This record gives sequence, C-alpha cells and structure tokens, in this order.
Amino acid sequence: MKIELVGTGSIFSTSNSACSIVNGKLLVDIPNGICKSLLKSGYDLNQIGGCLITHLHGDHFFDIPFLLKGQSKKGKRETPFIIVGVEGIEEKIKELYELAFKGSWEEVKENLSLTFIDCNHLENQEILPDMKVTSVKVEHSDKCESYGYLISNDGLSIGFTGDARMCDGVKTLLEKSDILVADMSNEVGNESHMGIDNIQELASSDRNKTIVATHMKTETKMLARNISMKNIVIPDDGYAIELQKVIR
Ligand SMILES: [Zn+2]
Repeated sequence: MKIELVGTGSIFSTSNSACSIVNGKLLVDIPNGICKSLLKSGYDLNQIGGCLITHLHGDHFFDIPFLLKGQSKKGKRETPFIIVGVEGIEEKIKELYELAFKGSWEEVKENLSLTFIDCNHLENQEILPDMKVTSVKVEHSDKCESYGYLISNDGLSIGFTGDARMCDGVKTLLEKSDILVADMSNEVGNESHMGIDNIQELASSDRNKTIVATHMKTETKMLARNISMKNIVIPDDGYAIELQKVIR
C-alpha cells in the first residue's frame, strides 16, 4: 500500500489542510483546494474511486463538489463512486453540491452511481478493490461526531485519526495499524486536537509503530522539527510512504 499526504496542515497553516490518498484511489478527507493540489501532483481525478470523510468540519470535505463535478463531466463512471461518512452525509453533500452547482445533483448522482456508506460500526468492509475499511470513533468536538479509519490490505493497515484529542479511539487505531497518520495540530494537546506531547506519548508506547503527524499549525510543525524520535515523521505536503510486508 502506498500513502501520500497531499495536505499536512490545519485550516490557517501555509500547508494544504490534512488529506491523504491511498494507492492513488482512496482519499481520506477532501479539504478545500485539494483537487487543484491533486492535479498539480499529477493525479487523474477520474482514477479516484472513493473518499472516507472523518467528520463534517469544512476543512475536511468542502472540495467534494469539485471532485464530483470533474468526474461527472466525463459521463458515466464504470464503477460506483463511494463516499463513507457519518449518518446524514448524503444530505450534507447534496446541500453543498446544490449550493455550488444548483440543479445538477441528480445528474451527478446518477453519472457517478454515487454510493454512500454510513461509517458507524464499519468493520473490515471492502470499499475499493484490495482496500478494506474499519471505522473507529474518536473524540474531537461535542458538536461534531468524528471517526478515524483503518485501511487494510494483505495483513497491513494504515490508520488515520482524523481530528481527535487523545482518547481511547486513537489508542485503538495505533494498536491496529502499522503506520498511524495522526492529528498533531498543537504544541500541547487540548480538548479538540492532539499536540506534540500526545504524539510523543503514543510513539513511546510502541516504538515499532511509525506515526506520521498531520493537521499541523505552521508553528507546531516548526517546533516539532526540533524533536527527534525515530518513529515520528514530520512531513511536508507530498510526503509519500510505501508499506510492504516483511517476509521473514
Ligand atoms: Zn475538525
């Protein structure tokens, strides 16, 4: 499995907002501006087959109308486009799409055979070929239900915390993944987001796991560059890593 961090920043940082793409086909969140970044990096938007949305804050899904519009321009997709998210996600995306492109929701829905999957209790479900997805509830905001995801194939798993404070869900994700892409917005973790302190704690708890920090404020990223822990990666946009099974 190959993962690229298309965005590593938080809303007001100079980097793209947090977004990853796995095997060039499955997005984890689709923040504002990310379609243009994908195009700049050479991706063909039509190759993307689905998107896991961690929660409904704007910096995690506001570019979805542009991805759907772009794909729909090509006519009918051969396979359904899959969107995974919290209960009510279809209504929210319809609202956003109609705000962006009034009167064309039914057409895009049909062209892309749009398929919505409720992430609640999602367990090892094959969302795209060779990519099974499990959801894990995390704590982020009392006003916004939030999930992390595990994407697995051939005995390997990549975890994504989405936005999260330190909580049991984050620990479960670390335990079940080989690489964890984790919210490290702040210098010090608070009730909404993890901080450098939390990521160091997670990395110390299992030194065989690699933690890739994301959703970083600009100042957090600068500070984090001074810490050196072998199993913490502080990436810039475009950082890519490939997971391969070690055969002993
Ligand atoms: Zn959020």
